[in-house]
Amino acid sequence: MKIGIVGAGQLARMIALAGYPLEMQFLFLDPSADACAAPLGELLLGDYDDPALLQRLAAEADVVTYEFENVPPASIAYLEGHCPVYPNSRSLATARDRLHEKTLLNQLGIVTAPFAAVDSLAELQQAVSELGLPAVLKTRTLGYDGKGQAVLRKPDDIEAAWQQLGGVPLILEGFVNFTREVSIIAVRGRDGECRFYPLAENTHRNGILHLSVSCPNDPLQGQAEAYADKLLAALDYVGVMALELFQADDTLIANEMAPRVHNSGHWSIEGAETSQFENHLRAIAGLPLGSTAARGHAAMLNYIGELPDTHKVLAAGAHLHRYGKAPRPGRKVAHATVCATDAQALQRRLTRLLAD
Ligand code: AMP
Repeated sequence: MKIGIVGAGQLARMIALAGYPLEMQFLFLDPSADACAAPLGELLLGDYDDPALLQRLAAEADVVTYEFENVPPASIAYLEGHCPVYPNSRSLATARDRLHEKTLLNQLGIVTAPFAAVDSLAELQQAVSELGLPAVLKTRTLGYDGKGQAVLRKPDDIEAAWQQLGGVPLILEGFVNFTREVSIIAVRGRDGECRFYPLAENTHRNGILHLSVSCPNDPLQGQAEAYADKLLAALDYVGVMALELFQADDTLIANEMAPRVHNSGHWSIEGAETSQFENHLRAIAGLPLGSTAARGHAAMLNYIGELPDTHKVLAAGAHLHRYGKAPRPGRKVAHATVCATDAQALQRRLTRLLAD
């Protein structure tokens, strides 16, 4: 079976690595000649909206998926008209726009921060008077890793935030005083079967994910699964999805979804019976889903902007995944996973890895 992937970054690379044992072949569309998934398949080199390349992708792939949500919607609409595409364009359109996303979440009874659409300074002032301060102003589309957002703490910040972000559609969100950030990775097959990975607890640095620790038997697992289950069904979703959540008291507050495999699920390569990458492929290919059960406790550490010393990481008892990318500030270039049979042993391994 030939899998087409829009994008050829590290997510596409890890999807392909998971597909090789199943004898899957890969065709990537990416504008960068040195895209890091390229050595694992055939690269269609060009823009994500190149009509000739989209036509080839649709003609040659049995099924198409994508590794990031900023794919032009028109490209996915075109592909959908010519071959199976998972997740579907509605899921992508919902995930791309924070206003559509939060509106749907609330319609499904999933708790979010209060929010309001903002398209002018007057609307921002009105939204602040309704939601109060502090609040977070975000671009509705194209934001990632904390980019395209500003925290408003005092009335003076309103105008500055508008200067910084205004001019594109925005959303103002009430500030959530969370105790921790978690995410749930879920997968839904073509036949509608859903499976859920154990929650991961996530720590960010400079707006970028730094550490994810899997939480088998977390007391909030059921609440997170109920949210994800509703969302998957409402979107008739196929493939892996991530839902990022805040915990405040004993309630989970949904922040955003990613219509793809997710950095906070990388631990599943070694830490779960079936990785998120393999389950994504199984789902979109119409194959039986694999068990999402944890094999024990696992934690994943990102390397950002600087390549790790392979010898040191391996000597610390970790598994290392280098993405084949040249280091640049803020760029994810590798991750390491540590596994253990209990939380204390995991912490010891993690401390050793972080010390190196
Ligand atoms: P996002 O791009 O929505 O994932 O936001 C990036 C980070 O900003 C999150 O991981 C949180 O740490 C923080 N953040 C986002 N939205 C809120 C909010 N409404 N209240 C408090 N913190 C937030």
